[in-house]
Amino acid sequence: MAKVTLENISKHFNEVVAVQDFNLEIEDKEFVVLVGPSGCGKTTTLRMIAGLEEITQGNIYIGDRLINRVPAKDRDIAMVFQNYALYPHMTVYQNLAFSLEMRKLSKKEIDERVKEAADLLEIPELLHRKPKQLSGGQRQRVAVGRTIVRKPQVFLFDEPLSNLDAKLRVQMRGELKKLHERLSSTIIYVTHDQVEAMTMGDRIVVMKDGFVQQVGKPLDLYFHPINKFVAGFIGSPTMNFIETRLIASDNKLWVEADGFKLKIPEEKARNLQNYINKKITFGIRPQDLSKASAPIKGETIEAFVEIIEPIGNEIYLDVKSGRDSLIASVDPKTKVVPRQNILLQANLENIHLFDIENENALL
Ligand code: ATP
Repeated sequence: MAKVTLENISKHFNEVVAVQDFNLEIEDKEFVVLVGPSGCGKTTTLRMIAGLEEITQGNIYIGDRLINRVPAKDRDIAMVFQNYALYPHMTVYQNLAFSLEMRKLSKKEIDERVKEAADLLEIPELLHRKPKQLSGGQRQRVAVGRTIVRKPQVFLFDEPLSNLDAKLRVQMRGELKKLHERLSSTIIYVTHDQVEAMTMGDRIVVMKDGFVQQVGKPLDLYFHPINKFVAGFIGSPTMNFIETRLIASDNKLWVEADGFKLKIPEEKARNLQNYINKKITFGIRPQDLSKASAPIKGETIEAFVEIIEPIGNEIYLDVKSGRDSLIASVDPKTKVVPRQNILLQANLENIHLFDIENENALL
């Protein structure tokens, strides 16, 4: 197993900048997830590591070995794609054995590796079946198995769960995570699904338009997003963003919107002097709004309930406060009806503020 280092990696397809100045050190045995919206450069990054795409600029190392010019087949990397691309006319056993036969391993060695991978993935009873006799989840396991038998230094996964239904995706998420522990291998995993990224990654790399926005542990990104894009991308339902004005009065700082005025906690008020009387974007997660029974100056928001969405473990309230729309995720036992005026308590410890121009976080 090995560490992977990406140093100033860029990829341009003529005038299209797919990836720009990508820098990252992935530790040995780390599970790193690249996440971002469609077209942000995730797959291109993975393909450059795999050697399937030439890099325009920069260096890629596996361990201490510079691999820029090493052909894909000699990189000791295995990749699982979104479409599993199993050979339909071969049995699961033959699918697993194929790459080892190409490498001319002995029959005994191949048999041992195939059976070891099948045990690890809990599919030994499927070895004689053809891919069309398998469920989506089983096919996915075989695709992973094909990489395991090769015992590569690094595993690359490109949206491997996106063909599965929602329930199976959740199950496979857990299985891949367990597998990572058992293999204790370096994994680089691409997804556009932030929940998948949050639940699986030791660290997450959020990308947008070819640029890395932020690298961090899941909860660091959730609680301390570096800009409005990361704040909006991580977390569900997405963070509420409202254009407000920063006001100084009574020796305190406040954010003032059309329908509310909230007090900024003292420890968050430092470094905001330059923004007084200016517009800033205020951010609060739906989970940081709960129903209040009485108004508290600077802490509660008067809101009009438009839509109620019971999810089960929480209720989403689509509310209006003045001209602004907000979503609150409240306790499922909360008593509330549509078209009701309510008070929402804001958890001020968890508010976010962003520069309205460059969208960088201010707290
Ligand atoms: P998705 O989630 O949709 O797969 P992605 O984040 O993986 O998206 P990439 O596939 O890496 O994005 O593409 C990044 C950018 O590079 C996109 O603008 C894409 O159109 C462009 N691109 C990718 N491959 C090529 C190519 N062979 N020729 C030209 N442009 C390309």
